[in-house]
Parts: sequence; structure tokens; C-alpha cells
Amino acid sequence: MSNYRTIVEEHIGRKLTKDEIVHHINGIPGDDRIENLQIVTKGEHSKLHKKMRGDSTMKRINLYIGEDQVSFIKNLGGLSLSEHIRRAIDAYIDELKGNKVSASQSKKVGELDA
Ligand SMILES: [Zn+2]
Repeated sequence: MSNYRTIVEEHIGRKLTKDEIVHHINGIPGDDRIENLQIVTKGEHSKLHKKMRGDSTMKRINLYIGEDQVSFIKNLGGLSLSEHIRRAIDAYIDELKGNKVSASQSKKVGELDA
């Protein structure tokens, strides 16, 4: 029983035909919010999936996620998410070095990781 088909059927007020495919716009199968569901034909569906396979992850994120997340990524100052995380880690390491972390404090950090 595909729950997302039922969600769409309730939204449009009729049963879907067997030729109507429900596609997850952002490519995440578990994301069954109505705004992520789209009724397409079999032909349209395979075209959509071919196109999605060709897109990079970041391009897909920018194409398919909501405005909130797009503005979140823009607020990273144009950096990609992975670059932003890498710089944050570098800054954290620099901070640790700059503060000349004592052996006992280092041990604490290690303990937190465990
Ligand atoms: Zn699909």
C-alpha cells in the first residue's frame, strides 16, 4: 500500500488511474509532503529521473528544496555546504591551537567524542 498515492488522491479528490505515477519532486522517497508530490505519466517520470541522475547533488538541492533552505545555503556566503563545514572544522582546529589547549582539556574533548 503506497501511502503517498493516498495522500495525492485525497488532495485531488479522486482515485489515481494506473497510468498516473506519483513522483517525489526532490528525489526523497520518504518525503510525502503534498508539495513534494507530483502526478506524472510514465514517460514524464522516466524523463524526470534521467534528468535527476544527470544533476549534481548541489544542483538538485538548489532546484528542489524549499525557499527556506535555499536562503540558508545563500547565507553561507556562496560556499558549498561541504566547503562551509570544512572551513568550520579548520577554524575550530585553529582555535584549539591558538588557545594552546592543555593536555587535560584535550582529553576532555576526546572524551566528548567517545
Ligand atoms: Zn519519481
